[in-house]
Amino acid sequence: MLSLDLVNEVKIPHFKLVKLMPKELFYIRLPSLKDLPEEINIFLQKVTFLSSEVILSIPAEDFAVDEWRKKYLSFGIKGFAIRATHQVEKWLKHQGIGQIYSGDRDLMDMFHRYRSMLEQDKDLIVEFQIGSDLRILAPTITGIVEMGAKWVVLNVEGEPTNKRCLEFRDVFEYLKIRGCTKLNVYFPFWNNYFREWDIKTQNTFSGISDVHIDISNRCTHSCVFCGLYGPEALADMKKRSGGELPEVTKNYMKMEIDPVTCHEIIQNLPWSVKYLQFGGMGDPLMHEHSVDFIAAARERGFKVEVLSNMEYLESEDIHRLHRLSGNKLNDLHFIANISAGNPELYIETRPRQTIKNYEKVLQNLSLFSKLREENNGTGVSFTIMCVVNKLNCLHLKEVSELAHKLGAQRVWFKPMEIHGEIHHLYIPKKEMLKAMANSLKEAIDYAIEKDITVFQKEYCDQIINKYSGDLIDVTSN
Ligand code: SF4
Repeated sequence: MLSLDLVNEVKIPHFKLVKLMPKELFYIRLPSLKDLPEEINIFLQKVTFLSSEVILSIPAEDFAVDEWRKKYLSFGIKGFAIRATHQVEKWLKHQGIGQIYSGDRDLMDMFHRYRSMLEQDKDLIVEFQIGSDLRILAPTITGIVEMGAKWVVLNVEGEPTNKRCLEFRDVFEYLKIRGCTKLNVYFPFWNNYFREWDIKTQNTFSGISDVHIDISNRCTHSCVFCGLYGPEALADMKKRSGGELPEVTKNYMKMEIDPVTCHEIIQNLPWSVKYLQFGGMGDPLMHEHSVDFIAAARERGFKVEVLSNMEYLESEDIHRLHRLSGNKLNDLHFIANISAGNPELYIETRPRQTIKNYEKVLQNLSLFSKLREENNGTGVSFTIMCVVNKLNCLHLKEVSELAHKLGAQRVWFKPMEIHGEIHHLYIPKKEMLKAMANSLKEAIDYAIEKDITVFQKEYCDQIINKYSGDLIDVTSN
């Protein structure tokens, strides 16, 4: 989401618009539609060429001028946000019978009139100019929601004091009681305080910034540390239910998100979302539509992260994903669970996989790096993740070497999670810990030397400090 406040700024800043995504919101506040300088008109034509989601915030009265409204609609904007103030004193005296407040009827009537002047596929938003009195704000919002408003902006000034935030919580409570469940409410995202307003007012009508969607429980790999597909975990589940996997587990392993539902979720996420992660109990890229989901999220301008074994992409997917990357390095990022720096260890850690699987993974990651290099360093980025276990814990430097060879931006040495008794088999033994700490140190030093970021480095440092000295066996005697 981008915003530009030309009401308070007189000049168009030098924006890098090349990577404005095709469905990314660009909210532009204009002082008026009257006599806009030519440079702004040219700028608006450029941005509407790049994104279908350009909203112009204008004084409410400007919308009524046919010539101006039609001119900017012809540029291909998505709609208008009309700046309006609700008249508290006037409408408190006109309470509807049987209602606490009937809202600002003037504003609601104006919205109704303006809405009928726009095509259905265009948006009409109210940007409320908020004064000190919030009474009748909530019923006014409810009124325009009933007339088709999908989102509103509360243009509040000043800092979010406790008193003000409590008043807004009451407004939100009213909207919830009146069933405005599909409404998004935004604080002014063109100033520095809007996240603080969201948090302090507990704005559940938008406000979320990080989202995770599980899309697939399927996977063909056999990582020994996996709680669902690890060979020992599978054998244990079979043993416990008489030699066969229970039906419930088989169904669970096949579970995937319905594509229509997933697209609906992505399209309806509020504009406050910045980061969307795709995962699952299996591998998200096993989902037939995973690349379409990633595309839909990127087109809205969200930063996207995917956790995968990286085997299932084909060359055309990789080219498509490359085109979906942004101008910031981590706009589209993969966390590649490889957990080994050489093919033998890879196969030992995944007994059902072969050298062919390993080579396909390396080929996919190398293609991302090649495309990035050809594009001046812009493209998909990735982390090489290593789940540290008994089999690989003395060979960690090889993981950093592989990360360097493949062109990774980050390495992540992640301690293995214990999903059951069976996984104790793969925890590094006590007598290995000192050598493991040394191996981890070598891996980290190598990564730093090669300019690769070490994710959660402080955590690795703690492990190195704790285990690199001689361990005292407190259990003897
Ligand atoms: S790739 Fe992930 S889901 Fe698949 S077996 Fe390995 S850990 Fe489990």
